[in-house]
Amino acid sequence: MQSTMMDVPLSLNHLLDRAGRLFAGNEIVSRLPDKTLRRHSFGEYYRRTRSLAAALKKFGMNKGDRVATLCWNHHAHLECYFGIPAAGGVMHTLNLRLSPDEIGWIAGDAQDRFLVVDDVLLPLYKQFAGLHKFEKVIVFPFSGAPVPPEFVDYEALIADADPDAFQYEPHDENDPVAMCYTSGTTGRSKGVVYSHRSTVLHTLVASLGDFWGLRGTDVVLPVTPMFHANSWGMPYGAMMMGVKLVFPGPHLHPDDLLDLMQLEPPTLSLGVPTIWMSLIQAFDAAQAEGSPNHGRWKLPKGMRSLVGGAAVPEALIRAFDRHGIWIMQGWGMTETSPVCTIAYPRAELREATQDERYRRAAMAGVPVPLVDLRVRDDEGLEQPWDGKSVGEIQVRGPFISGSYHQVPADPEKFTADGWLRTGDVASVDGLGFVKISDRTKDLIKSGGEWISSVDLENAIMAHPAVAEAAVIAIPDLKWSERPLACVVLKPGQAATAQDFNAHLLQHGFAKWQLPDRYEFIDAVPRTSTGKFWKMKLRERFAGHR
Ligand code: ADP
Repeated sequence: MQSTMMDVPLSLNHLLDRAGRLFAGNEIVSRLPDKTLRRHSFGEYYRRTRSLAAALKKFGMNKGDRVATLCWNHHAHLECYFGIPAAGGVMHTLNLRLSPDEIGWIAGDAQDRFLVVDDVLLPLYKQFAGLHKFEKVIVFPFSGAPVPPEFVDYEALIADADPDAFQYEPHDENDPVAMCYTSGTTGRSKGVVYSHRSTVLHTLVASLGDFWGLRGTDVVLPVTPMFHANSWGMPYGAMMMGVKLVFPGPHLHPDDLLDLMQLEPPTLSLGVPTIWMSLIQAFDAAQAEGSPNHGRWKLPKGMRSLVGGAAVPEALIRAFDRHGIWIMQGWGMTETSPVCTIAYPRAELREATQDERYRRAAMAGVPVPLVDLRVRDDEGLEQPWDGKSVGEIQVRGPFISGSYHQVPADPEKFTADGWLRTGDVASVDGLGFVKISDRTKDLIKSGGEWISSVDLENAIMAHPAVAEAAVIAIPDLKWSERPLACVVLKPGQAATAQDFNAHLLQHGFAKWQLPDRYEFIDAVPRTSTGKFWKMKLRERFAGHR
């Protein structure tokens, strides 16, 4: 029987129109390089975005052409999020934390035609300009300085275009809208391409009550970069629901973020655990009498905070909860749009103790609607959801990539029956809570038994003297691999290997699971997206990658 429902494509243009019509008075706040704030209404945003789309069409942009962005989080980047697809293009966010060689390679691989770049990032652009030739380089005068004449001035381009005459490029819901390369933590980066359909479905799902729970009265501070995994999709959700956005621009130092929270108190914020750890440490240090920052900050009480991208230590969740801020943990990857699971208080946990709530919040969470999730062992056998059996997480769904840009089908990444192999090792319990124990590459295999580096580092980070800790495997003749813990102490604190071992034994670890060695380091190296970069620690301490 034929469907009687309208065949209307899912489209980002609908979200843009909605934002312009229904929420014209809402605000977008961007922090500029000089730390002042610039404000735009959604109404202005709507017109500027359509102008950008009109200008791109005038440049002769064809459907499916890639337009790269090299930008911090701010309103003009948000204009690219909707303006490029509105004109039929694909926004390709370049990760400004990668090396210039890597960025140049990625732009070439994606065959980007145009580039939109912040003026403050021109020195970075010049370092890879020789590796890939863009037809036009459009410079956003983020600092307010005049744009050098050899480039196209973003503001002049927009001022010249007519937003009223602009017509959306005809499209299908499966047409591509955005592209992002995996951060390559464990190998060469590959291009993930999102469509209108996948983006709209992801936005709808992630915005639901138990996940982001977006409300019209929300003020959202996305610290997660718009140049990687679409700032977890929040820009799309904010437009759909008409919530105020506060963008931090290039100022991601904890003191700057805390200052911004005083100026524009958020009700919802997003970030990776490493940044959230430094935020709470800066805040707590400022509470001490005599601190130069004493009395400078208040934390926004009641703020919800979405933290993910790497395991969120229970100690971090407790530390924020002491100030009335609840951390929701999410798990996902570039390939999954990225929200796949979120930890939230299910009805079954209504009577749970506070300790149990913390324990659950420190898990990756429950699969969101439209995502099928299974766990398979090395032999491909599906594992029961008993909270014990571990294996690789595999996922499938309408906002999960089925292939990479111009990469032939790879059995390492996709199963024969069409599921994405995530490379994350986990168990799932009876309530559907996923507990990530490691990445396949980070697991420690000691005498035939697996030791979870994530469990060890989370327990070590719960020690009061520890600022951060990362655990890696080092080769061992007898056991094949043994754990080594790299520990960063809080300023003025002291602790020994014996102290940590006693602490771990107290926290339920067996003797054979204790690290063989502790190395005290100044900082854990970070990847381009701010996660612990264990490969660098392995190079330093284990002599291999
Ligand atoms: P890359 O895969 O190149 O590091 P992504 O940003 O896509 O770049 O990272 C996805 C990976 O991050 C996941 O496969 C997982 O290993 C890790 N990750 C994300 N969220 C969590 C989480 N809540 N707990 C543990 N690991 C996480």
